[in-house]
Amino acid sequence: MEAFDLTPPEWTKSAIHVFDFCCPKCGAASMEAEAVWINRRSPVYTENNRRKWQEFYHCRCHNSWWAWSSDRPPSRYARSKKDNDMSDLDHYLGNLDLDL
Ligand SMILES: [Zn+2]
Repeated sequence: MEAFDLTPPEWTKSAIHVFDFCCPKCGAASMEAEAVWINRRSPVYTENNRRKWQEFYHCRCHNSWWAWSSDRPPSRYARSKKDNDMSDLDHYLGNLDLDL
């Protein structure tokens, strides 16, 4: 599953940092991306002692962007208040309709 490869895919190199969690070029949501790559190697601890990490998305318009996981809108699949933990990430990715 490419999303959890340790080596960043080629398309992440041109990714643009966005803050509203959608493609800056065409406005497509992360759920519509063609590929996703999570930088799980270097999670950052926030002031609340919660983890955040970089989520890279390769949009169907061939634009690449990334955002902090903490900027992701709350998942409707979240099972608990710990919605930024890795277990939720797995759940979130499991519900993405991606060709990985
Ligand atoms: Zn796009």
